Amino acid sequence: MIKEFKIFRQHGKQFVPNPGNVELAPLFRGRPIISNLPDEKEIDKLLALCPTNAIVAKPFGIDLGKCVFCKECHFLIPNKINFTNDYKIATNDRKKLIIGFGDNTPVKLNPDLVRKEIRKVFKNSLKLRQISAAGDNSGEMELNASGNVNFDMGRYGIEFVASPRHADGIVITGPISENMAEATQICYDATPDPKLIILVGTDAISGGIFEGSPAINRDFLKKYPVDLYVPGNPAHPLTFINGILSLLGKKS
Ligand code: SF4
Repeated sequence: MIKEFKIFRQHGKQFVPNPGNVELAPLFRGRPIISNLPDEKEIDKLLALCPTNAIVAKPFGIDLGKCVFCKECHFLIPNKINFTNDYKIATNDRKKLIIGFGDNTPVKLNPDLVRKEIRKVFKNSLKLRQISAAGDNSGEMELNASGNVNFDMGRYGIEFVASPRHADGIVITGPISENMAEATQICYDATPDPKLIILVGTDAISGGIFEGSPAINRDFLKKYPVDLYVPGNPAHPLTFINGILSLLGKKS
């Protein structure tokens, strides 16, 4: 028995005690800060180098719904654009994903956009069906990790389930290819009301590097309101977990 206790002690805590208060490594690319406005020449260069049109020229900003966090903009003007390790960047308001000059506050949820039934019905238990709509498996791996022993989102009653008929909402990763458009609709239709739509990762939020490709079909997203945008490329499990907790009005 003493031996077992020694092993427990040696291993330490296997889980993140508070997903809302974690200091990620400084190398993590989270919420950017634009501390000085780039001049016109620099903006032209940024517009040309950004692979996903995430640079907004007027007023100057970075759109986290399009950003793939490659950091090329930082490398071009390191004294003006920096990336913090703030991972709490999920929101239900698409406009809040655009980080402007001087913004240095955490990305927040817009309470006016939270549907009333969400907190009433799902606060204690939320089952989700994941749809990989032409995802590249990176976002899907991070979502898997959200339920592992480290991040353990199951402690908040949040879990993935195998069937949309057992789910309270769908979580989409990937840009939604033509081939996955109908499957996405079928999966949504099979989920009972009231149901959530959560977009995870740059590809799902904006199409990412596939934006404008004839191989994708994002008409599904024009039909329904999105309840939560979780940026990242791929999104970090802590971004996902904290985003859902804010949406449900729960503390981590
Ligand atoms: S980090 Fe984002 S905004 Fe900057 S160049 Fe890369 S994709 Fe564009």
